[in-house]
Amino acid sequence: MSTENTSDQLFNNSIKILTDLIAFKTVSGEDNSSLINYCDEILKKLGATSFKTFDGEKKRVNLFATLKAKHPSDKKPIILSGHTDVVPVSKGWSTDPFIATIKNDKLFGRGACDMKGFIACTLAFAPIYSKANLNRDIHFSYTFDEETACIGAPILIEELKKRGVKDGICIIGEPTNMKIIDAHKGCYEYTTFFEGLAGHSSAPHKGVSAVEYASRYVNKLIELREKLKERSPKDSIFDPPHSTLSIGGIFGGIAHNVIADKCHVNWETRPVVKEDGEFLNAELDKYANEVLLTDMKKTFPNSSITKKIIGEVTGFDRDKKSNACELVSNLTGDNTREAVSFGTEAGLFQEIGISTVVCGPGSIEQAHKIDEFIVLNELKKCLSLLDGIKGQSISN
Ligand SMILES: [Zn+2]
Repeated sequence: MSTENTSDQLFNNSIKILTDLIAFKTVSGEDNSSLINYCDEILKKLGATSFKTFDGEKKRVNLFATLKAKHPSDKKPIILSGHTDVVPVSKGWSTDPFIATIKNDKLFGRGACDMKGFIACTLAFAPIYSKANLNRDIHFSYTFDEETACIGAPILIEELKKRGVKDGICIIGEPTNMKIIDAHKGCYEYTTFFEGLAGHSSAPHKGVSAVEYASRYVNKLIELREKLKERSPKDSIFDPPHSTLSIGGIFGGIAHNVIADKCHVNWETRPVVKEDGEFLNAELDKYANEVLLTDMKKTFPNSSITKKIIGEVTGFDRDKKSNACELVSNLTGDNTREAVSFGTEAGLFQEIGISTVVCGPGSIEQAHKIDEFIVLNELKKCLSLLDGIKGQSISN
């Protein structure tokens, strides 16, 4: 940012774009195409090329746009990535959650920090990148449905693989107060459905109680939870150090005197290493099929146990020699590295070989809350990181 003036203009433009973005009610699971088209238009006008990927109904969209290098070099491309969805709003907001409202040094609105603030900064900065003599590609990646177990990003990642994009540096602008986050656990959520045979409670041997088999399944989960503790890696960076497992709910049955034919269990696990998730699922599925289901079918052959994957957010592993972390460290001066308990899309990019860092404006403290806000100065800090990236992406 060469002068006070352009810097002010840039900041004001990021506020304007953030205001527009907040007005799109892109709650997870809803149509986000208007927001995506808005972003696509801004970038296309600057000469970016782009492609979209969709969910099955073509209602929700990921955008991947590129400002091509004018002087290609061997520098790795940069991906600026953010999710476009926001969590639903509950009652009690002091302002309209979908109208950006500035009070003192804060901007209020759903998604202000998580994470439309970052997206607004990248769009506001894009005109500067487009005029610069870039010696590497700069990509803009905007995904759908991150908040519901990262449903959108894997569809984009598949397409990136097909297109041979498997190298680069990715900055995921989740709210970290511009601090560097370089690791988090995975987060896998499941619902397991049990179907047995209803009957009169006075003749338990003639029915198959879905509730009872679900209980045995839950007991197995608790037993496996202890095994996960034993598998805790010695050099774990997480708190607690091992993979966790939690039962969120058991739902089944209609009356005291009726054998329940249906029951389902909501549960989740947060693996510190991928292998723990694989181990857990293998042990559990084996027990469900070989012990429980075999037993259920003796009385009622149509019994079933179905495990539905709600979402499997890949863990983000610490890479001691991360290009992405080094780049951000060099530009912001922050040399710390932190592991966090919330999940992001970082592990998905990392999995295809892209060096990834989570770093963005605003605080996770305000995310998902009533009166979500972003401190305006955080946007300035983000813009100056983007300016630093420009400095690292032009030929002198
Ligand atoms: Zn987020």
